[in-house]
Amino acid sequence: MIIAVDGPAAAGKGTIARALAREFGFHFLDTGSLYRMVALSVLREGADPADSAAAVKAAKTLDPKGFRDAELRGEVVGGAASIVAVIPEVRAALLELQRAFARQEPGAVLDGRDIGTVVCPDAEVKLFITASPEVRAARRHRELGGKESYEAVLADIRARDERDSMRATAPLVPAADAVVVDTSDMDIAGAVAACVAIIARKTA
Ligand code: C5P
Repeated sequence: MIIAVDGPAAAGKGTIARALAREFGFHFLDTGSLYRMVALSVLREGADPADSAAAVKAAKTLDPKGFRDAELRGEVVGGAASIVAVIPEVRAALLELQRAFARQEPGAVLDGRDIGTVVCPDAEVKLFITASPEVRAARRHRELGGKESYEAVLADIRARDERDSMRATAPLVPAADAVVVDTSDMDIAGAVAACVAIIARKTA
């Protein structure tokens, strides 16, 4: 059983997807971290994230164990991740890794941008978690503990949305059979409960 959880940055999908994996006893993969790892490898080499040759090499030789979560979470790495994610060969290099993860028993929850559309088009449940850019910026701003201004975070989120939605390969769009959950007016517990109810309905 595969649960695909897609949506834009800071909509709450990572937290929700983790909670769903715990609830159902499934494996969990944050696919954004793969793109972040590729971006960080490129940055560490002193290369430009838009340099396809450097990014493709990093994706093909990726060792997911060689990174600590704290190094991957920053906005700089997130922005660079959305730049390497535009490159089709980078996406292709990461595809089989994600599909192999999704095939594990008793099930898997994957969160990302293109899980329901490209990585696991046959997923039994597809959720598209979203919220307004302003709400997402306020949440990310709080998470960052005031390290960046709200305006800077909002601008970054808008730029990332634009890059993720406009790219030619695997753009950020809800799958035709995805259930869209807008978390703008929900807290995490409410959003998780809404998603559990959707999954129960879909798999009844
Ligand atoms: O979800 P997160 O913010 O960690 O993702 C970082 C970037 O990686 C996203 O902005 C997006 O460009 C890219 N990404 C993607 N496809 C995925 C997951 C993430 O293109 N499945």
